[in-house]
Amino acid sequence: MFAPPSPASTPARAAFAVRLGRLAAPALLALALLLPLGLGWALVGPARPWRDELAGAAGLLGFAALLWSFVLSGRFRLISDRLGMDRTMRWHRAIGVAVAVLLLLLHPFLYSLPDGPAFARPDDLRRAGSLGLSGWALVSGMLAWLLLGLLTVTALARDMLPFRYEAWRAAHGLLALAVAGLGLHHALEAGRYSVAPALAWAWAGLTALAGLSLLWVWLLRPLALARRPWRIAALAPAAERIWELALEPVGHAGLRFKPGQFVWLKLDTGPFGRREHPFSIASAPGEARLRFLVKEAGDFTARIGALPIGARAYVDGPHGALVAEGRPEPGIAFLCGGVGVAPALSLIRAEVQRPAPRPMLLLYGNRHAGQMLAREELERLAAAGRLEFVPVLGEPPPGWTGETGQLDAALIARRCAGAASAGWLFVLCGPPPMLRAARRALRALGVPEARILEERFSYG
Ligand SMILES: Cc1cc2nc3c(=O)[nH]c(=O)nc-3n(C[C@H](O)[C@H](O)[C@H](O)COP(=O)(O)OP(=O)(O)OC[C@H]3O[C@@H](n4cnc5c(N)ncnc54)[C@H](O)[C@@H]3O)c2cc1C
Repeated sequence: MFAPPSPASTPARAAFAVRLGRLAAPALLALALLLPLGLGWALVGPARPWRDELAGAAGLLGFAALLWSFVLSGRFRLISDRLGMDRTMRWHRAIGVAVAVLLLLLHPFLYSLPDGPAFARPDDLRRAGSLGLSGWALVSGMLAWLLLGLLTVTALARDMLPFRYEAWRAAHGLLALAVAGLGLHHALEAGRYSVAPALAWAWAGLTALAGLSLLWVWLLRPLALARRPWRIAALAPAAERIWELALEPVGHAGLRFKPGQFVWLKLDTGPFGRREHPFSIASAPGEARLRFLVKEAGDFTARIGALPIGARAYVDGPHGALVAEGRPEPGIAFLCGGVGVAPALSLIRAEVQRPAPRPMLLLYGNRHAGQMLAREELERLAAAGRLEFVPVLGEPPPGWTGETGQLDAALIARRCAGAASAGWLFVLCGPPPMLRAARRALRALGVPEARILEERFSYG
């Protein structure tokens, strides 16, 4: 699966393709968001007062953003393989904030009214009536506005709410669906621009696409998972509070993935269960078992060691863009902290199997030696000259002669200057503060964005 670059693909062309891919995704998303606004502008007659036009534009843009944000959370590999799942989810959140500003704050308050002060409050029925809204359009608009407020607050305050992640996620999807349905009614009944059939059809099509995205995640994808079950083949402690979990396919050929990718695992539930968690694949493609390294972090992972061998598991994936395959860079430097080494292990294990492996450097930070994963394997590779292995310990044991402290700017500058100037690829995975420090250090070394891949283990 790890094919060498074809003779036709020169490093320059491959680098250009990578850059193009990075630009194409934001450009396409911007076009998609602007589509209804463009249709309204192109299809409907004379302009109204500027404040009304601004309010209408906020509505068009905000509703389009709301509907496209469903697609961004739909785990479509067409999108997330190019953007990376964490960036896809970051965009989902950013668009959510934009929706809130446009639809909660601007759209209902900007209209100018004939009778008195310019601002209309959506709960001011007498004045909203003077906007020419029919009774039901008013009801759907107000309900959508209130539910969108609730959706926004519960999304922004997710970590403070006393609900499990799965319950929050189900409520988030249902609330968003209700806002989309009410928004569609309001847009079709009250929207001046929706009188244009093209725009009315665009709204109906986009709302259907939003609903389908939810249906895909909640029903169609689980149906596909049910036909490809896995079983827990092994589960053993790998380091302090970290477990190695191995899965075997049951009655199918397994999963085709690229090293560095991750999956959503359902372990203690059926294929339709809501409890699922993302984990990076630590094994290389071609191994009989899929292997994962799972750190005890919260209620689900704390119980992982108690799962019985032989239990059913379901694997949704592969996802993610932490992929070095097909990249033109002459070497790879990994900067990893803690269990963030999991995707790097898959990449390293695959790279050493290639006919002409690229040189590799691994800076691997941990607090103490008991937390290091795959230490013997990495030391063996280092002894064989396949990998420059630099473990870094915050609390080193007596007699430790390796690097100490944090994976900070000074250490990265000292250890990575050569790789940076040689045009290597940098792969980052670890806790957010480490990722931020590593990015700053790499920027200072002159490493361009296009040569940095990063996976965050949280969408927060
Ligand atoms: C792309 C990716 C790859 C990951 N790879 C690994 C790995 O190889 N090894 C590893 O130990 N950890 C990995 N994680 C982190 C792992 O998913 C979380 O630690 C785990 O889901 C926590 O679940 P919990 O119920 O035990 O803890 P909780 O306390 O419930 O969750 C802790 C945090 O994890 C996140 N989280 C929880 N459930 C989910 C979910 N279903 N989907 C998305 N995020 C969720 C939330 O941000 C939450 O605040 C990865 C995360 C991501 C996003």
